[in-house]
Amino acid sequence: MSQLPQSLINSLQGIEGFDETAFRQVHQSDEQVTSIRVNPNKTPVVNGRLGIGIHSLSSIHYSPVPWTDYGYYLSQRPSFTFDPLFHAGSYYVQEASSMFLEQALKQTVNLLQPLKVLDLCAAPGGKSTHIQSLINNESLLVSNEVIKTRANILIQNITKWGANNILVTNNDPQHFSRMEGFFDVLVVDAPCSGSGLFRRDEEAINEWSEDAVMLCYGRQKRILADALASLKEDGVLIYSTCSYSKQEDEDIMDWLVQEMGMENVQLKVETEWNIVVTQTIHAEGYRFYPYKLKGEGFFIACFRKKEASDSGKQRMVKPNSATAKEEDIIKPWLKQADLSFIHFREEIIALPSLLLQNFLLVNGTMNLLYAGMPLGQIMKDKLVPNHALALSIILSDEIKATELSYEQAIKYLQRADLALETKTAGWQPVSFHKHNLGWINALKNRINNYYPKDLRILKQTNNAASRN
Ligand code: SAM
Repeated sequence: MSQLPQSLINSLQGIEGFDETAFRQVHQSDEQVTSIRVNPNKTPVVNGRLGIGIHSLSSIHYSPVPWTDYGYYLSQRPSFTFDPLFHAGSYYVQEASSMFLEQALKQTVNLLQPLKVLDLCAAPGGKSTHIQSLINNESLLVSNEVIKTRANILIQNITKWGANNILVTNNDPQHFSRMEGFFDVLVVDAPCSGSGLFRRDEEAINEWSEDAVMLCYGRQKRILADALASLKEDGVLIYSTCSYSKQEDEDIMDWLVQEMGMENVQLKVETEWNIVVTQTIHAEGYRFYPYKLKGEGFFIACFRKKEASDSGKQRMVKPNSATAKEEDIIKPWLKQADLSFIHFREEIIALPSLLLQNFLLVNGTMNLLYAGMPLGQIMKDKLVPNHALALSIILSDEIKATELSYEQAIKYLQRADLALETKTAGWQPVSFHKHNLGWINALKNRINNYYPKDLRILKQTNNAASRN
């Protein structure tokens, strides 16, 4: 591992929980902590146990991450690329400390209420998929990423998650002033200098500098100042970084209270979690050190907005609803639910009807890339289904999948030719351990593999040394 920057070590002296010897040791050791968070829509957790064995993980011992209902540490790191259930969205590979977001949400908002949540810096989607698992079906998650290429990765992960109450936007934080007073919860998992990830990412060590910390500190303030307008009065802000630097953590916390009029909200942390409570005279936040718990470096703090917000600056576009005939074509593919069907970006999408109004507001105001559940296009009075629909939780149980063996599943995910017997002809999902992977079209004398080209596994073989 590269040398830890001495200026970082010097700057951390005296910070709550910092221990130079332990910090150096944990960065020198080869220990890797691997954790996943399961998708409760697909992989039920029953009495604290996974409802199914995760395929390639079946020989692996797993133990729960203490601050979440959905997280598990794995005793070794498998090649996730060669686990079909990884591609089915049955779980998300996520660093354990970040899963503490669950406590922040559970302890500050009533998750039984219909909520509007903005995840402002969302790619690749770790926090967004987690938030989706915690909010109810009447709640809306707007998952935003300013960098276009990263927004595409975010969409891929949201698609795998299978829910239909997420909108993905591609906007700069300052555009959210147009959504004044709209959100109940604002999550800002800010771009930061990244010292918390040094154990995983050597590059982060080489890129770290005191100037980078100051640059991030300035950017974090700008992002927050821009986005806070979109929060309602009494709305909750959850701020997090993967940096140990005081400027990006405690100083931002103080600035939010002193300059932005936010009220700090304290969380209850169990002593055995070994999370360090960090206090200034204005606020309290939570530090995660890898030598104190099983997870990477992380910081989180919660606030409530006390200022009144104006509302009503959003522009609403009229919905381009599907026709009755189109609805008749679509409905047999879907579970019974109160859904609205709208034309959006050359596709028909399905949205919970309760969220239609909010979709129209966001669509009229922001750069909306992905919304609800893309169902596909209607051609010659038939639905040509979108990949997302195969992975969706609203796909009808009547749309029977052809179950694949492990070898077939990998071939399918490589977008290779498949020799398969199917019970029926035409469009159908293929599944592995009953988790859908995507579509095939079974013709008279061949099977067409419709796994999206840009998602296919490029590696030919799973050698034990390969990492995801
Ligand atoms: N929340 C994500 C997750 O859990 O998977 C990780 C977010 S990462 C720490 C920070 C994100 O902020 C990156 O996706 C990055 O592209 C984005 N970002 C970079 N500069 C930004 C800016 N000026 N405003 C808003 N977001 C920015």
